[in-house]
Amino acid sequence: MSITDNATGGENVPEQNIVSESQDQSQMGAISHDEDTSRVANTSETNDSVQTDSEENEQPGFANLGLPKAVLKAVQKVGFEVPSAIQEQTIPLLMEGNDVMGLAQTGTGKTAAFALPILSRIDAKKRHPQALVLAPTRELALQVADSFQSFADHLGDIHVLPIYGGQAYGIQLSGLRRGAQIIVGTPGRVIDHLEKGSLDISELKYLVLDEADEMLNMGFQEDVERILADTPEEKQVALFSATMPNGIRRLSKQYMNDPREVQVKSETRTNTNITQRYLSVAHRNKLDALTRILEVTEFEAMIMFVRTKHETEELAEKLRARGFSAAAINGDIAQAQRERTVDQLKDGRLDILVATDVAARGLDVERITHVFNYDIPNDTESYVHRIGRTGRAGRSGEAILFVTPRERRMLRSIERATNAPLTEMDLPTVDEVNDSRKAKFADSITESLENDQVAVFRSLIKAYAEEHDVPLEDIAAALATQARAGDEFLMKEQPVQRRDRRDRDFDRDRGDRRDRDRGDRRDRDRGSRFERSQDMQLYRLAVGKRQHVRPGAIVGALANEGGLSNKDFGRISIFADHTLVELPKNMSRDVLDNLRDTRISGQLINIERDNGRPPRDNRGGRGGFRGDRDRGGRGGFRGDRDRGGRGDRGRWRD
Ligand code: ADP
Ligand code: MG
Repeated sequence: MSITDNATGGENVPEQNIVSESQDQSQMGAISHDEDTSRVANTSETNDSVQTDSEENEQPGFANLGLPKAVLKAVQKVGFEVPSAIQEQTIPLLMEGNDVMGLAQTGTGKTAAFALPILSRIDAKKRHPQALVLAPTRELALQVADSFQSFADHLGDIHVLPIYGGQAYGIQLSGLRRGAQIIVGTPGRVIDHLEKGSLDISELKYLVLDEADEMLNMGFQEDVERILADTPEEKQVALFSATMPNGIRRLSKQYMNDPREVQVKSETRTNTNITQRYLSVAHRNKLDALTRILEVTEFEAMIMFVRTKHETEELAEKLRARGFSAAAINGDIAQAQRERTVDQLKDGRLDILVATDVAARGLDVERITHVFNYDIPNDTESYVHRIGRTGRAGRSGEAILFVTPRERRMLRSIERATNAPLTEMDLPTVDEVNDSRKAKFADSITESLENDQVAVFRSLIKAYAEEHDVPLEDIAAALATQARAGDEFLMKEQPVQRRDRRDRDFDRDRGDRRDRDRGDRRDRDRGSRFERSQDMQLYRLAVGKRQHVRPGAIVGALANEGGLSNKDFGRISIFADHTLVELPKNMSRDVLDNLRDTRISGQLINIERDNGRPPRDNRGGRGGFRGDRDRGGRGGFRGDRDRGGRGDRGRWRD
């Protein structure tokens, strides 16, 4: 296999067909699917690899990479089934003893690419450091150490020790005294230990520079060279990086021995399993727009990027005031606190992380379903890194970008750099927001009915109703009001003037865009679902948020029953008690009959053409987000409803 094969990593697989995706598809399943695709593609392109590939197809997996049996077993125990492209290409080279330079985007599985060869050759009987991995931040060091540990757990007496700034020396010193064969550290703290004499790397066999580009960006060049100087001449060096700036070339020339270069290229720079949208918004309207989007969007966890450290705190505070569970992370926050915050995000005690680029670099939190670019990044590279925080390990994700009129150029650059047009989205209407609030209100009642205290209050309320002769619904309404502490429940239309002005802003944005970028614009629209609207008809289904339906469930059910394919679906807007779906105008009688018998969440959907009859609740013309339906297949998706009512959300759940 040629080393610089244009192998398709998990990064640019065709958009996953949500119809065929099962709810519980594990990340491993998703990855193996991706990699299968890449193997097929390779077979047709490279002659010399045909035989190997077909063999591998019969027996896919890690077995052919030269790893020893014990390690293969550990891999199996951890649950990796098929190597990612970077793993497939670098592991054999590392096992043969080569110095290797691996270039691949984040999320492509670089950690195991170096961890497995190292673990294969550690001498467990000796306790001195045999491998050193340098990573730019504490978070990344911990992540890499965790990953090593997950394999090492199945490999006997191998000890992995993370050492990083911010943690008390005591723990690290005793860890080092006890003996660890694998050290994962940040450059600064590694140097501290070298100078203290507590870390001896004179018998090191393997050195890894992980996220090397970021280490240079963060100014660790000298530190890295200082550490390299302490290592023995005879050692194997692996360097992993998402990009290849000149500094890295220099480093590799100087410190690596005939390095073999492996590059996993992706045609598009970004994950195609990430839906990317943008909203044109004037700066002063950002917070309002954000709140509306958060209210109507179902998300599990979200990371939100702003420009400055100060703004992380400010925005997190504003979100908390609006009832969301949000926290800030930035370089000024103490390491220990940052780590706690990330843990909270991981285990669901926190839903929104507001971060700067640096603080969030490399975070791997599977729960993150959305990346929100509240402030547009300074460069396209950052954008790619930002949105790489979602869509981890084969799952799908969504990225939303706010673009102010002045930032349209940057939007262009991002689209060029990622080779992927972003879809323009509309601001959720007041009706949509209110609809979502009503649905959540109903859900919170349903949830509270299960509380033990209900029985206690039931008798009190019954007594009150009899004594004061007040209808029960009035009492319930009074209690609901009480719970909201004086806040208005429904959002009001903005005063006309402000709206006009904002619309003008939007229009101006769009007009400008059209004039300046007509060609581009047309390209963008080609193939978009908007265009097909003439051939589409709006249908109404008798299920909605009340039945907890999700876009994925709708697409899945209709596709199965009606034999429809993914591309037959237009917009899907889910309301409290019904759903509007765009489907082809010319569906046959048979198909419609079949659809009529379809149930979702156990309820007949009673599909009918929607003829513009005004439904009881709104039909905000701007209707649902088209992107939403792509979320259906994600396993373990936890919607807002699981979180309890709005009132709950402000509280920290720890
Ligand atoms: P990178 O360092 O390239 O950003 P990571 O090594 O952090 O990527 O891997 C990203 C995610 O993919 C992790 O959650 C990891 O557990 C998962 N992963 C890596 N390789 C595989 C594989 N072969 N099969 C399944 N999951 C994998
Ligand atoms: Mg990594």
